[in-house]
Amino acid sequence: MDPNCLFCKIINGDIPASKLYEDDDVMAFWDISPQAPKHFLVIPRKHIAGPGAMGSEDEQLIGKVLRIGAKLARENGIGDGFRVVFNNGAEAGQTVFHIHMHVLGGRTMTWPPG
Ligand code: AMP
Ligand code: ZN
Repeated sequence: MDPNCLFCKIINGDIPASKLYEDDDVMAFWDISPQAPKHFLVIPRKHIAGPGAMGSEDEQLIGKVLRIGAKLARENGIGDGFRVVFNNGAEAGQTVFHIHMHVLGGRTMTWPPG
């Protein structure tokens, strides 16, 4: 846990979030600034700054983030058409340095992303 990390504070319950799911490993909550009709984040409880800070010991955990994200997309009316995004580094738009997977859906997605 990083005491200065916004998402660690959400995990600890110090900051409220609109939760969709939580278990011993991961948590999911709706993004406060949605970029699609449905936009939520899936995070591990473990503080990892981003994909670039992962160790091989994190592979199973981040695999679970992906599996739970897809399951929650189905369960929350997004269906099979969704976009998953991990931003890594400020240049890529990362603003919270606790690894998180965006799941966006409910509209047609375009490519390339901005
Ligand atoms: P990124 O830009 O990839 O680091 O994504 C961070 C995301 O966290 C952004 O989409 C923000 O809208 C979202 N966010 C920031 N603060 C909160 C919060 N308190 N609750 C839910 N989502 C948040
Ligand atoms: Zn954190």
